[in-house]
Amino acid sequence: MAQKSATSSPLWGPALLSCWRGKCPRCHEGVLFSKRFRLRNDCESCGLVFRKDGGMTGQMYVSAAVTEVFAIAILVVIYLATDWSTAVSLTVGLSLVVVFSYWLLPRSMAFWVGVEYATDTANERHAQASFEQSEKSRKTDA
Ligand SMILES: [Zn+2]
Repeated sequence: MAQKSATSSPLWGPALLSCWRGKCPRCHEGVLFSKRFRLRNDCESCGLVFRKDGGMTGQMYVSAAVTEVFAIAILVVIYLATDWSTAVSLTVGLSLVVVFSYWLLPRSMAFWVGVEYATDTANERHAQASFEQSEKSRKTDA
């Protein structure tokens, strides 16, 4: 049985699962997208910032790398499984790659929001501190 490493964060599984479902990785309630390809700036429910400065660079790398692997796989399958001409192979192959990259784009955005959330321990400390602060002020108000 695999042992969980001491450095692995307990946030990874729930965060990535929520992002796959298009939900906030922290509260699991707020939605990530206002439209299909439009990532919201922050969570409407808990205020977690989804769009950080330069944060979408990682998403672009994920999207590009996965799309390239897909394109190579499609070309190999077409080459091995069909006797199509080069023109037909490129037309079919490129069409599939374009459709795949449109399917992948929101998923890679969501995936990257989850990765940033799970790796951003400062963000969690900040959230915990402001939660404790609001609890403290709620108790002193009462
Ligand atoms: Zn949230």
